[in-house]
Amino acid sequence: MQQCPECHKQDTSEPVDGTRSQYYPFCSERCKLIDLGRWFDARYVIQSSADASDPEISDQGF
Ligand SMILES: [Zn+2]
Repeated sequence: MQQCPECHKQDTSEPVDGTRSQYYPFCSERCKLIDLGRWFDARYVIQSSADASDPEISDQGF
């Protein structure tokens, strides 16, 4: 029995010939794309936060 890591739907349509789905371990292309998009989002957030300068440092004037 295989469970989709994205929507946690129990995929009962397990192939009998032993070949996995092309979306494995996801149940469908939609769930696969959602997971992919999350990875891209996380990378974008890390990049943008590292690129942004700390406002407290530039604010300390004399
Ligand atoms: Zn799914």
